[in-house]
Amino acid sequence: MTTTLITGANKGLGFEAARRLIAAGHTVYLGSRDVERGRRAAEQLGGRTVQLDVTHDASVAAAVAAIEADGGLDVLVNNAGIATEWTATNTATNTVIGAADVTADLMRQTFETNVFGTVRVLHAFLPLLQRSTAPVVVNVSSGLASLTRVSDPGSRAYAYPGVAYPASKTAVNAITVQYAKAFPNIRINAVEPGFTQTDLNGNTGLQSVEQGAEIIVRMARLGQDGPTGGYFDADGALPW
Ligand code: NAP
Repeated sequence: MTTTLITGANKGLGFEAARRLIAAGHTVYLGSRDVERGRRAAEQLGGRTVQLDVTHDASVAAAVAAIEADGGLDVLVNNAGIATEWTATNTATNTVIGAADVTADLMRQTFETNVFGTVRVLHAFLPLLQRSTAPVVVNVSSGLASLTRVSDPGSRAYAYPGVAYPASKTAVNAITVQYAKAFPNIRINAVEPGFTQTDLNGNTGLQSVEQGAEIIVRMARLGQDGPTGGYFDADGALPW
């Protein structure tokens, strides 16, 4: 039996990945920073729920204790993420806070969840993952993490003006590479779901959550012969 934790699983891509992994036979903990939203989501899917705010040490420690008491963890999906540079602005006009207006505070807020949150959760769950016979980590990154793409005028990512969100996801990619080298017994990969209709982008995304969750689910189900330290979308490996 495979036990999986997905952070930020009460809605969006995390919720859809939970649905699919439960269907595939995983015991899934839907992490939610709000207890009630988590309870409702888990009830809907037949999963378990755990209160988990990736920005709070105590919340993460309590989640580790609860999952450890229930028997441990095999798969960790670091999915919780924010794009404050998008949501803090007028999504109706698709404005994004770019280089002229980005502040240290906006960077810090974005990194607190997307980067420090990922490390906080990874660090806390490592002992449990190390005890698994087939440990897997999926870090939900973004196509905007790719420096190759954002600097290529031929790429759709080139036009995106935001600074904080892409930088945070580039950091997630760097974290993925370094952890993968340090823990060769764990499959650790970064994934790009694609531009998906969720609250993160005011539901302006071009694809469904079913399409977006595809690569998250595929990499969460990876066997021990699968790749590690890579960066993938549904079509294959991506340039860093
Ligand atoms: P979403 O619908 O807004 O879901 C984000 C989830 O993260 C929610 O469950 C949210 O919980 C949770 N979250 C936010 N801050 C948290 C915190 N401090 N602790 C715990 N959970 C927290 O967005 P989504 O599109 O599904 O995003 C999922 C992941 O995919 C993110 O990492 C995002 O960067 C990435 N991604 C999305 C797209 C896209 O086009 N949608 C593309 C590439 C990558 P609340 O409900 O409590 O806010």
